[in-house]
Amino acid sequence: MSQKNVVVIGSGFAGLSAATHLAKNNYSVTLIEKNESPGGRARKFIHQGFVFDMGPSWYWMPDVFEDYFAHFGKKPSDYYTLERLDPSYAVVYGEHDVLDIPADLAEFKAMLDQIEPGAGVKLEEFLAQAKYKYEVGIHDLVKKPSRSLLEFASPKLLVDMVRMDIFQSMSKHVRKFFKHDKIIRLMEFPVLFLGETAENIPALYSLMNYADIALGTWYPQGGMHEVIKGMVQLAEEQGVKIRFNAEVEEIEIEQGKATRVRLVNGEKLEADIVVAGADYHHVDKHLLNPKYSNYSEEYWDKRVMAPSSLLFYLGVDKKLKNLRHHNLFFDEPLGPHADAIYTNPRWPEKPLFYASVPSITDPSVAPEGKENLFLLVPLAPDLDDTEAMREKYYDIIMERLERITGQDVRSHVIYKRSYAHSDFKSDYHAFKGNAYGLANTLTQTAILKPSLKNKKVSNLYYTGQLTVPGPGVPPSLISGRVVSNEVMKENNL
Ligand SMILES: Cc1cc2nc3c(=O)[nH]c(=O)nc-3n(C[C@H](O)[C@H](O)[C@H](O)COP(=O)(O)OP(=O)(O)OC[C@H]3O[C@@H](n4cnc5c(N)ncnc54)[C@H](O)[C@@H]3O)c2cc1C
Repeated sequence: MSQKNVVVIGSGFAGLSAATHLAKNNYSVTLIEKNESPGGRARKFIHQGFVFDMGPSWYWMPDVFEDYFAHFGKKPSDYYTLERLDPSYAVVYGEHDVLDIPADLAEFKAMLDQIEPGAGVKLEEFLAQAKYKYEVGIHDLVKKPSRSLLEFASPKLLVDMVRMDIFQSMSKHVRKFFKHDKIIRLMEFPVLFLGETAENIPALYSLMNYADIALGTWYPQGGMHEVIKGMVQLAEEQGVKIRFNAEVEEIEIEQGKATRVRLVNGEKLEADIVVAGADYHHVDKHLLNPKYSNYSEEYWDKRVMAPSSLLFYLGVDKKLKNLRHHNLFFDEPLGPHADAIYTNPRWPEKPLFYASVPSITDPSVAPEGKENLFLLVPLAPDLDDTEAMREKYYDIIMERLERITGQDVRSHVIYKRSYAHSDFKSDYHAFKGNAYGLANTLTQTAILKPSLKNKKVSNLYYTGQLTVPGPGVPPSLISGRVVSNEVMKENNL
């Protein structure tokens, strides 16, 4: 029987995952990537011995990665070496007010008890619920293609939905257990990964606290890009053909079916099935004749996008003190910054930010005696990111980092590259320059997300952080698997 040709667009986590699952199931898969290297938002670049991960730096939910590789009879350790970080990360509440978050659960509870007597016991109850949500959520709900409400119509699932706190906000949920502001901020932090504030994220996502506290923060030696490297190797082992520097310009449709994918150089690739792992809006609005778009521009404009970011990749010519591998600078209140991201989009007056120093754990990512420093400020999508603005914010956050950690950093920066909205747009065709896709609000969950299947083109599917199950590395891996299952169901060999 002849193999079906699948063209997958985009070599991010989702595209790689979809391509590899389909190749394993005997489809002939070509993966097309516009950039010169794989990984999409998880690319890396090297400058004079500094190895920078360009995007993700938190390796959470190790079981999702194990599950991914196990599907092909492999383990993550066949491709990269993981280390559990301890402390998992540091939260900076102010000068001389820094919490190291211990990896050990007993130590974590003791730390909470010191802040708020009795909070350790409360944590047990909070985590028991979060564990249940994690198990149902990550092992069941996220694997649903969310194309029909019927998928959710089982009595057990309805009971589960109630137990999972779908209709309560994360913010209220956390406050039922804890009173102290420091603990509340600590417990609300993981949902920021989902692209909204705790007020607008369903309490289902306390499953992220289970991931954080119980499953831990891990680091792949060499950096997060090692995961992409492993996935590329696995994809090629399964027979996926990968082409870089190949940008898709149009998906050609004939009689309601995608027949070819045309590249910017004019080349055409025949396709029986197309899986688009590039940003959904780009595919929907720029790669298709408008009559085949799944959604209108008004629909897209009403979506709540997860934030964009201003990033700095810095090479520092000395070792830094008073910093951990991951550092959350929560020394300013979240409220005004969240307002500047979600309610009245603007550059925030006093931004919160994140600093990562992977060379503390891994000497291979910086030359000897030097430090690899990555800074991230979450921002509203679609802001004007002029060079002057980037510089202004560099100084704002560096001044705080230097003051709080008690050292001069700026005059030791020997390499500096910034990255923001316009880079996300030009490198990834990111809608409004988003960094993390679509926010996981209640009205953008499961069946309410942009569908993984085109409604008018019978063999065109979507995968990645703008469709199910949502933003983040583990969901993107799962997204590729979910879409490949749908392809296989509907296109039997
Ligand atoms: C700064 C930053 C930090 C993050 N931190 C974390 C973290 O710590 N932990 C975590 O879990 N997640 C994190 N995330 C989120 C995570 O990285 C993303 O959710 C995930 O990588 C998205 O994968 P994807 O495959 O959906 O999309 P992408 O990675 O964007 O892949 C899409 C690919 O499509 C390609 N493409 C686009 N248009 C075309 C075209 N026309 N032709 C051919 N190719 C095309 C793009 O070049 C890209 O390679 C972070 C993201 C960013 C940006």
